[in-house]
Amino acid sequence: MANQKNQPSGKGCAVLVVHGGAGAINREKLTASRERQCLSTLEQALRAGFKVINDGGASLDAVVAAVKVLEDAPVFNAGKGSCMTRNGKIEMDAAVMEGTKLAAGAVASITCVKNPVTAARAVLQYCPHHVLLVGGGADAFARKIAEEAGLKIVDPSYFRTKNAEETLKRFLEMEKVLKKKGKRPSGLTTGAGQGDEDKSPAELMELEDLGDIEDFPGIVMPELDKTGKKYGTVGAVAVDRSGALAAATSTGGTVGKDPGRVGDSPIIGAGTFADNETCAVSATGTGEHFIRNVIGHEVSALIRYKGVSLQEAARQAIFVNLARTRGDGGIIAINRAGEFAMHYNTLGMYRGVVFADGSVATAIF
Ligand code: ASP
Repeated sequence: MANQKNQPSGKGCAVLVVHGGAGAINREKLTASRERQCLSTLEQALRAGFKVINDGGASLDAVVAAVKVLEDAPVFNAGKGSCMTRNGKIEMDAAVMEGTKLAAGAVASITCVKNPVTAARAVLQYCPHHVLLVGGGADAFARKIAEEAGLKIVDPSYFRTKNAEETLKRFLEMEKVLKKKGKRPSGLTTGAGQGDEDKSPAELMELEDLGDIEDFPGIVMPELDKTGKKYGTVGAVAVDRSGALAAATSTGGTVGKDPGRVGDSPIIGAGTFADNETCAVSATGTGEHFIRNVIGHEVSALIRYKGVSLQEAARQAIFVNLARTRGDGGIIAINRAGEFAMHYNTLGMYRGVVFADGSVATAIF
């Protein structure tokens, strides 16, 4: 499958699109087995979502089914395999939105639900007065509703992986070294953090460029290990037979984040958005930038008010809007006609699409 410069085509309408995160995925360091593992997990997620829609189900159920597969795979930064806060805890964020009634549900800094996307779904379904529950409140709600909503409650140790532990260790080491130079790793990609807008592109490149890291043997980019592993937020967007759109996003956040930090994924309009009149969007990248540029809603607004195509709106959101604050990342989007878009300004984005005839395509670069 081709990347954003060369959109895949010729297979009819798209039904469901997924992503497994965007970032500094180093092509040379990505092993064949790692690549296969990621692509086959994306494919499983596409098939799980497709089955729901093909059986006449709702796009909301399809995106939840797809995201659950990605959350269960430790290769992605969501559910099992989530990255860690700077004090070694796992706090996850997730959201769902459906485009018919603009109903949404989200959880942030949740710690005890095996599939955070199902907790977000439960907020939408069982919590009529609220959209977003956080921290202890989200955990308490999940425990209370678990049986009725079919949520699996697990011990927080379930989410921990050796990889996440090592990645945090490397992040903290790198932070220490970079601090002396007045720099800070983003915990995500090659991007800048909030407040870096006054730096020149050269300074920004230097900030987290791999070349910079090579100055410090043994320390690699936080989301990469020696085999080129990249932790990625996961998401899905879908359209069902009735033409209803839905979006879902789930993440462990950014490596070494401060406890209580919430990214864009559970923020409706930033990392997750769906409106039948325009599109459904799921984002991945430096969350603070996606929040500040309200990227999900921006794609929708460009379509609604400027009349541009889905493709053009998604492209502008990443290459014009997100660029204003020098954010890094990508988005997937779909509309009722089954048109879809996948744009990113990073080296790669794990992504895939399933078409109405059941055929799938996946790609990283
Ligand atoms: N957007 C996520 C966050 O900032 C991270 C990611 O996409 O990898 O929490």
